[in-house]
Amino acid sequence: MENYEKIRVVGRGGYGTVYLCHRLSDCKPVVLKEIVVDQMSVEERQVSMNEAKVLAMLDHPHIVPYYESFLEDKMMKIVMEYVPGGTLFEYLRQRNGELLVEKEVLHYFGQLVYTLQHLHSKLILHRDLKSQNILLTQNKKILKIGDFGISKVLSSKSKASTVVGTPCYYSPELCEGKPYNQKSDIWALGCILYELMTLKRPFEAGALSAMILKIIKGSYEPVSDIYSPKLKKLLARLLHLDPRRRPTAAQIMCEPVMINTIFQLRFSIGSIPCTRNHKFRTKFVKTAEACTSMSPAAAKASSASSSSHDQDSSSEEGCNEIDCSRAKENIWLFTSETSEAFLLPSNPKHKTKMISLGSSHKLGITETGTLITWENTAVSSVVEDATVQKKCINLPSFAVSLANKFSEIITSVSCGDDFAICLSGHGVLFSFGKASSGCLGYLSKNDVSKPRVIGEMFSRNVKSVCCGSRHALALTDENEVFSWGHGNHGCLGQNKVKFQALPRLVKLPSKLVPNQVFCGKDCSFIVTKEMSVLACGNNRHNKLAMDAGEGDQQKDEIWLFTPLQSSPLRDEKFMTVCGGRAHTAFLCDDGKVYTVGSNCQLQLGWGTLHIDYSMPRIVESLKGFQVTDISCGDYFTLALTKDKSLYCWGQCPKSLIGAEDARDYCIPRVPSCLHGKVLSAIACDSESCVILEDGTSEN
Ligand code: ADP
Ligand code: MG
Repeated sequence: MENYEKIRVVGRGGYGTVYLCHRLSDCKPVVLKEIVVDQMSVEERQVSMNEAKVLAMLDHPHIVPYYESFLEDKMMKIVMEYVPGGTLFEYLRQRNGELLVEKEVLHYFGQLVYTLQHLHSKLILHRDLKSQNILLTQNKKILKIGDFGISKVLSSKSKASTVVGTPCYYSPELCEGKPYNQKSDIWALGCILYELMTLKRPFEAGALSAMILKIIKGSYEPVSDIYSPKLKKLLARLLHLDPRRRPTAAQIMCEPVMINTIFQLRFSIGSIPCTRNHKFRTKFVKTAEACTSMSPAAAKASSASSSSHDQDSSSEEGCNEIDCSRAKENIWLFTSETSEAFLLPSNPKHKTKMISLGSSHKLGITETGTLITWENTAVSSVVEDATVQKKCINLPSFAVSLANKFSEIITSVSCGDDFAICLSGHGVLFSFGKASSGCLGYLSKNDVSKPRVIGEMFSRNVKSVCCGSRHALALTDENEVFSWGHGNHGCLGQNKVKFQALPRLVKLPSKLVPNQVFCGKDCSFIVTKEMSVLACGNNRHNKLAMDAGEGDQQKDEIWLFTPLQSSPLRDEKFMTVCGGRAHTAFLCDDGKVYTVGSNCQLQLGWGTLHIDYSMPRIVESLKGFQVTDISCGDYFTLALTKDKSLYCWGQCPKSLIGAEDARDYCIPRVPSCLHGKVLSAIACDSESCVILEDGTSEN
């Protein structure tokens, strides 16, 4: 205590006295909560220790920051940030009946939902949410949840069984003596939402028995009509008698009535003062703008796409101040259906940075973070009448409005069979596509045409995302990997889980820190910080390099993320992994390429050896070329080298190799149509590929 000087009492609660103190080392005001422990039972002592333990674990802008705790004079002392604006309870009482407008209600409620989602994702229950345990900053705009005295960390999905908390906020199941779970916190959250809308508690009565009767009936006075029906409906769902019918915090975050508030919060969070270095600081990725003159080929593509651009130009508001003539680039589409390549229209203002192909659509993103979609219907009509008339649509409207409002940009995109997932500069995941894909990452009965936030991942900062045919993987900045979708052959890495609608945390071998995720159609890969590879999914033909050697029994399916077993891959360092239908290509950090799996279509690049099963080997003829990226189709492989040329091998798309002898592609070759071209990005689908020709190419 010699480090602190008590100034005054700021509060008294059930377990202790709370003092405002001076921290002598820096004269900072801090709060000291004293809990007398000597007369406490062992259980009660645990309660007070628990608060310090839980607070120390948490690091969130809407949770009171914790500094230290110690035992002294038979008291447990917890030192934390002083939050000077009083409690939410006091604030609402002081309004003398003057209701908050809906925007204000949402502003406070959003902060609570956002924080509760964070707690629940860490399997922590608060168990005593109430307006007296919510503190406000001086300007009353930001709230911080405090009093974690009786919160509980759930070791698994088990339910906490002791009845705790404040009777007014007891949920019906607690009144019936059932165990406390996350949905009981949601009930308490509903009670606070009601307080925000009415300045009163929903269930109050003189006697405890009368109050419990009100709770188990779920009867409360209606709220004012100044609030929207949507918000009222949400309130009713939070206060649903059946806990299963109450939404989770993650689901509340994605409610249409909440989404704007949550976005605003998510993106302003970096500016909320927080004494500890929290991990939620947002980042805005700004990209350099390339200004080049127009090439004839690009001009052609531009004019072909200009009509569809005109109507969409308003959606690009955010980029208008950048004065930039058309980016000079060609986006080539090579298919097996025709002998000639197609030029896809590109964004007339900004260069394309990345492309991803799915079976039903092609997506790209520009360096300024705009999403481009090329529709396949248009592409197939082109195949018939041989004119370039594809549609180049900018960011679909939902994401556009977000983009304008919050400077939100898309930094990465990945396509699955009937769905796609985009990652924004703020680490938020959006998905769209067919509901039947089961891969949207949220529950939806209808197909989703505009990117929608994956709520389950919203409170996390996602670093990388990748889609397989019918599954997806995401990696967060806290080094957690989530997977969802269909678990065919074990590709979710979740053991025998056949289908997983919502993103679910993947268990990884301990000590391995994931750094990147990649998906094949029916398999998944994680590249670790040490650049080793973990894989799961379909290992037929040993395409995941999971067989240790000749005598080893072949493993067809790998159900959990497992380090590669086949030498020499166990000892290499990898940057990128790419899966074809029956083979895999591995790119090492020094630019070497290994392949493994079936060479039935010569897709391994080892010459004319027709085999159906292999152990991994280096692609000899690429030795000496520094490969920077690889991509696999069903039965072919592409490699982009440091000098920006493209090598391909296997059963390549017909229009890529043209009149050349297909047998020559048993080893890597530069197709004659791409000789001398400067290429910057590659992407493959089953039987086609898209190759981005850099602006600096000579035509
Ligand atoms: P209890 O577990 O006894 O309920 P609380 O942590 O809820 O204790 O604190 C009791 C009261 O003390 C709060 O209602 C609030 O008025 C005040 N208080 C607690 N923590 C702080 C803080 N960090 N900053 C300012 N006031 C606080
Ligand atoms: Mg309290």
